[in-house]
Amino acid sequence: MQANPAPRKTLLIDRDGTLIHEPSGTFQVNSLEELRLLPGVITALHRLSCAGYDLIFVSNQDALGTAQNPRENYEYLNDKLFALLGGEGIEFAAVFTCPHIPADGCACRKPGTGMVDAYLRRKPLLLSDSFMVGDRGTDGRFAGNLGIPAFLLDSETHPDEDRTLSVEQKLWTWPELAHYILQRPRCSRLARKTKETDISIELNLDAPDGQGRYQIATGLHFFDHMLEQLSRHGGMDLSISCKGDLEIDAHHTVEDVALALGQAFADALGDKRGIVRYSWERVLVMDEVRCEISIDLSGRPYVVFDADFPRPAAGDLPTEMVEHFFVSFCSAAKINLHLHCHSGHPDHPGKGLKPNTHHMVEACFKALARCLKDAVRREGTGISSTKGLL
Ligand SMILES: [Mg+2]
Ligand SMILES: [Zn+2]
Repeated sequence: MQANPAPRKTLLIDRDGTLIHEPSGTFQVNSLEELRLLPGVITALHRLSCAGYDLIFVSNQDALGTAQNPRENYEYLNDKLFALLGGEGIEFAAVFTCPHIPADGCACRKPGTGMVDAYLRRKPLLLSDSFMVGDRGTDGRFAGNLGIPAFLLDSETHPDEDRTLSVEQKLWTWPELAHYILQRPRCSRLARKTKETDISIELNLDAPDGQGRYQIATGLHFFDHMLEQLSRHGGMDLSISCKGDLEIDAHHTVEDVALALGQAFADALGDKRGIVRYSWERVLVMDEVRCEISIDLSGRPYVVFDADFPRPAAGDLPTEMVEHFFVSFCSAAKINLHLHCHSGHPDHPGKGLKPNTHHMVEACFKALARCLKDAVRREGTGISSTKGLL
């Protein structure tokens, strides 16, 4: 049995009026003199291609192969266009052209999806991270039929296209849409229900002003307080609601929230392209407590957790569940974490300092928050690994 192919980040791209100017009057590019790229196309496609998007060419070419639209001419111009883009490292993974006219009633003409259906069965779209770029309503409806958003370009020949079909109901330029795609907030949403807990989470790793906003209700007040630290100091918007079997104890609630949050974190990060990945030797102090932490968003979960809490609970949170939270979160988010939390300096232990349990637990969560904020920061487009995968 064949495994399901992995969904891919994909951009489907129209030609006329999108990659190249569409002459007014004829709406057909007939000569090399008429072949002019839209402003910003090369830089935008280069950035998007480096960010890991497959580029697919999809064009309706009315009556292609007839005297009205000779095929040799079309292919001559396309070859020039592809050579121009290829010289800048921009390659199309596939090229699709519908040669029909509306009266033919073909299945391939946009907004129909017949051109791409077979291809997308082999290389399915990652629906959360794929887009159509075009300049007409047909492109917008084509995107709708594929279940992805469309960016419609601000076109000189079709200024009145239906912009309600376009992302944010506006017409775009290439630099704008590349920026939007590459810098849009990394979000995820997750619901997880078992016999023991019923959890829903919304996460945005890129809180607008770097100040995480939160709405957290797990039924455990101290745990809520800790998750709020994660949001605020991690610069992530976070809403969590959990209805758990607290009549038994705190175990399932803490464990399942940790697993769900770890999964939401991994979902929001996606393929981790362009992120810093590491945060190391951060030391967070809270009064007498010193918490040293390093993380690697390596894709290989491994946790060293070194903290002896003097009291069995902080508020309504049993302290044994703190380590369990870190292990569960890191296992679901596939994070490698080392944490050492003590009073004073590890080379000078004791010194009569008895650490405060509340301080210790809070320091662990705040330190994790700061590390995550460091490590998820976007600084480029590549994958920070020689393996090409994280
Ligand atoms: Mg077009
Ligand atoms: Zn067709």
